[in-house]
Amino acid sequence: MSDDCIFCKIVKGDIPSKKVYEDEDVVVFNDIRPIAPVHFMIVPRLHVAGLNDCDAAHQSLLGKMLLLAPKLAAEQGLQGFRTMINTGREGGQEVFHLHVHVFGGGSTLPKT
Ligand code: 5GP
Ligand code: ZN
Repeated sequence: MSDDCIFCKIVKGDIPSKKVYEDEDVVVFNDIRPIAPVHFMIVPRLHVAGLNDCDAAHQSLLGKMLLLAPKLAAEQGLQGFRTMINTGREGGQEVFHLHVHVFGGGSTLPKT
């Protein structure tokens, strides 16, 4: 838990979100600024800033997050989807609490 982290506050329930799924390891909620008809983020309860801060200790958590993506995407009605993990400011990361974006729906997504 990091005091000034918006995703920690969402995980704790201090800031509301539209939850898609939660369990003992992750909370999954819709992105407030969706870039596709379906757009949610898989967020670990554990505060880790991003992929640059992960090591072998996070291996099973990372695997779990990725395996959840197709399951939850299917539940949201997506047959195909895109995953995105922005890492560091140069990688477009805005919220420094690890998260996997999952989005899709509507017309075919552009390649970039
Ligand atoms: P990043 O650029 O760090 O990969 O993505 C952060 C994402 O978090 C953005 O797509 C942004 O729309 C989303 N976001 C930022 N603040 C909030 C919030 O308070 N609630 C929700 N649901 N999403 C947020
Ligand atoms: Zn956090």
